[in-house]
Amino acid sequence: MQIELINTGAELLVGRVLNTHQQWLCRQLTDLGYEVSRQVCVPDQGRQIQAAAGEALQRADLVITTGGLGPTSDDLTRDCIAQMLGRKLVLHPATLTRIEEFFAARHRPLPANVQVQAMIPEGALVFANANGTAPGLAVEAGPGKRLILLPGPPRELRPMFLESVVPWLRLEFPIASRFLCRTIKTTGLGESVVEEKIAGALQPLVGEGLEVAYCARVGEVDVRLAARGDKAGAVLAEGLSRVERLLGAVIFGKEDDSLESVIIGLLTRRKETLAVAES
Ligand code: ATP
Ligand code: MG
Repeated sequence: MQIELINTGAELLVGRVLNTHQQWLCRQLTDLGYEVSRQVCVPDQGRQIQAAAGEALQRADLVITTGGLGPTSDDLTRDCIAQMLGRKLVLHPATLTRIEEFFAARHRPLPANVQVQAMIPEGALVFANANGTAPGLAVEAGPGKRLILLPGPPRELRPMFLESVVPWLRLEFPIASRFLCRTIKTTGLGESVVEEKIAGALQPLVGEGLEVAYCARVGEVDVRLAARGDKAGAVLAEGLSRVERLLGAVIFGKEDDSLESVIIGLLTRRKETLAVAES
């Protein structure tokens, strides 16, 4: 199963907005056991979006687009995807009601153009938007192929993905084998030294399917271990225990722990304070 991600928006290409959807979605999908095989960013121009989606659909089983579902003239994703797939846009009455309620609840008048967000490609599945007006959409795009359209604003995209897209994915594209993944965070050693210390001991487990990846940041190196299949739990547990034994004191945390939060936690527990000054 291959997934490709298309982020749309001129603001991303001129460096005005950081493409956080790329990182966030790839991270979520990977942690769920899916593999994102390619990601591109295109400006919000109909032809560019169609070309990117058309190419991606030739390779991938699932293509996800972000952005361009709003009501303004630069929001083209819904229209150009429908056009590319040869689908008519039809009114989705439940979405229109939702949009009307969204504005009524905020005592704001309903702008005329907002209704375009209730138009969906014929046959599409709607992911309700709990934090905005444009729904997400899932459309069939050929045998076994699906396209998902998600809204641009992170506060709309993220809850929609977690609440609606993840359950949909699990049904439509069940993961064939169990996938487990853990990150160990270290500080004080360079990337190659970290690798030197553990690679040899992990090698036999790599033969049993353990995946090992290193990610260096300023002053920190993450060690990411992953495993698939029936033996995933045992292989991963053994990998973690070897890494912990060999790296010992340079490990400061796991998963999303930050060095700062770990230090503050230690100081708080010891009832100590930290003074910093900047010159
Ligand atoms: P809207 O209804 O707000 O227009 P939309 O679905 O049309 O939503 P866009 O117009 O493409 O989405 O983007 C809206 C805003 O969402 C952007 O201005 C930007 O701040 C944010 N955004 C869009 N894409 C990304 C991205 N890839 N990473 C981070 N933020 C993004
Ligand atoms: Mg927009």
